[in-house]
Amino acid sequence: MQDLEGKAALVTGGSRGIGAAIARRLAARGADVAITYAHNGEKAAAVVADIEAAGRRGLAVQADSADPRAVTAAVNQTARAFGRMDILVNNAGIFPYGPPEDVTLEEIDRTIGIHVKAVFVASQAALRHMGEGGRIISIGSCFAQRVPHGGVTLYAMSKSALIGFTKGLAHDVGARGITVNVVDPGSTDTDMNPADAEGADGQRALTAVGHFGAPEDIASMVAHLASPESRFITGASLAVDGGHNA
Ligand code: NDP
Repeated sequence: MQDLEGKAALVTGGSRGIGAAIARRLAARGADVAITYAHNGEKAAAVVADIEAAGRRGLAVQADSADPRAVTAAVNQTARAFGRMDILVNNAGIFPYGPPEDVTLEEIDRTIGIHVKAVFVASQAALRHMGEGGRIISIGSCFAQRVPHGGVTLYAMSKSALIGFTKGLAHDVGARGITVNVVDPGSTDTDMNPADAEGADGQRALTAVGHFGAPEDIASMVAHLASPESRFITGASLAVDGGHNA
C-alpha cells in the first residue's frame, strides 16, 4: 500500500513546473489530487490525466490565487469532490523582478495576494476540513534566507512572510496532529526559471552542487512532508536548494 493512499490533496498552481511535479508525485504515492491553475487549462488537464493514469482521482480548478474567494472555493470544491482534505500545498507563485522604485502598488498587492494572502486563506479553509494527520506545506524560496543580488526585494519580502506564517500556524494546529512547513527551493528548472536562460550560470555559481534542481527534487521533499513519516517535523523551513543557503 502506498503511504498516501486514502488521502486527498490540493496543490495550488499545479499546471506546470514545481506544482505539476508535486501533484504527480502525491498521486504516485497514493493520494487523490486536485490542482488549481490561473490560465493554462490544457496543461492542467494533462496533469489531471497523469493523476488518473496513476489510478487516483484528479481535479483541475481554475482559481486565481490573487482572488481569496476563488482560493477558498477551490479548497471547498476539493473537499467536496474527494470527501476529505488532508494535504494542502501552497505552491502558486509569480516572480516580480526589477528595481524597487519601479514597483507599482498593483504589483505589490498582486504579489502579496498570491504569495501571502492566498496561503493564509487556503490554509484557513483547509483547516476546516482537516483532521489528525493533516499537512500544510508552502513553497517559499531560498531568497527568504539569503538574497544574493538586487531586483528581488518584493519577491524576497513576500516569500519570507511564509516563515512567520509557518511557525505561528504550527503552534495553532499542532495539538490536532496537523503539521505546517515551508519548503524553500533554490534555482529549479521551470518556465519561471529556465536552466538555459541568461543569468543561469550565475545562479549555478551560487550553489554548492553547481547545477539547477529539477521540479522532482522539490516534489520529493513535499511528498516526505506529506507522509505519516514526517509527523515530528513542523514549523520548519526546509531548504532544497543545492546549497544556495549553505
Ligand atoms: P512556473 O511559473 O513554472 O509555474 C507556476 C504555476 O503557478 C503554474 O501552474 C501557474 O498556473 C500557477 N500560477 C501562477 N500564478 C497563479 C495565480 N495567480 N493563481 C493560480 N495559479 C497561478 O513556476 P515554478 O514552478 O518555478 O514555481 C512554483 C513555486 O516555486 C512558486 O511559488 C515559486 O515562487 C517557487 N520557487 C521557484 C523557484 C525556481 O527556481 N523555479 C525557486 C524558488 C521558489 P498557469 O499554468 O495557469 O499559469
